[in-house]
Amino acid sequence: MSLTDKVCVVTGAASGIGKDIARQFLDAGAKVAIADLNIDAANATAKEFDPEGKRAMGVAMDVTDEAQVDAGIAAIAKAFGGIDVLVSNAGIQIVGPLESYKYADWKKLLAIHLDGAFLTTRACLQHMYAQGRGGSIIYMGSAHSKEASVLKAPYVTAKHGLIGLAKVVAKEGAKHGVRSNVICPGFVRTPLVEKQIPEQAKALGLTEAEVIKNVMLKETVDGEFTTVDDVARTAVFLASFPTNALTGQSIVVSHGWFMQ
Ligand code: NAD
Repeated sequence: MSLTDKVCVVTGAASGIGKDIARQFLDAGAKVAIADLNIDAANATAKEFDPEGKRAMGVAMDVTDEAQVDAGIAAIAKAFGGIDVLVSNAGIQIVGPLESYKYADWKKLLAIHLDGAFLTTRACLQHMYAQGRGGSIIYMGSAHSKEASVLKAPYVTAKHGLIGLAKVVAKEGAKHGVRSNVICPGFVRTPLVEKQIPEQAKALGLTEAEVIKNVMLKETVDGEFTTVDDVARTAVFLASFPTNALTGQSIVVSHGWFMQ
């Protein structure tokens, strides 16, 4: 699967899943913008992957900041020659029961996952439509785009919402050759999940080992975590797929935790 000279933007690419997607996109021949709130980590990632600075660039981007998103995407298009692929991946998790969930946390989580997806999509679509060479937009959903868990109300709400956005992008983008799909991973041991293990143990009155075995991996077919490699391979597949046959879809990569 080749992404030769495709210009790819990955948000939240300074860590975890996004970082491995950036790495595999570069390996497939792409030019990659590592867009992240944490600019130092984004620049370090770009340098790690491409010491000469020709095919990878770090970009400071808070995906909830309209002006920063528009300016960041414009700068990437100028530096690399347009935009071909967006992976809207930046995300956070804040766990807690609904009855005491803080409104500020609810709004923060929805803003990063949903406003961020909208703003980056809008900015990239303008370039993709103007260029006339199609494109691929991939949203980082979750098994929680299809399934619910306790303590995760805004996350489950946002991840379900991304499937709706991807379907509209698929319909509006089709005449411009722009495809849109959602990847729905199961639990991956990134910093986002490492932080949740003690939090869930406390909230549910379990040990950390019990959270892993009986909460996170209970419904998988093999008791295994999904890996960043599993998810990044799926992103390369979706980014390089050549036709509109695969659009408006969501692919669950979860060791069978959720089956369609
Ligand atoms: P991570 O914490 O390792 O990385 C998230 C990155 O997003 C960080 O580099 C962070 O700086 C960046 N970020 C946070 N807020 C941002 C903002 N406002 N603007 C720009 N960047 C911002 O997390 P991860 O596990 O790699 O998660 C990446 C995506 O995958 C998220 O959307 C998450 O919901 C999703 N996901 C993760 C898992 C999992 O088990 N880890 C499972 C399913 C889906």
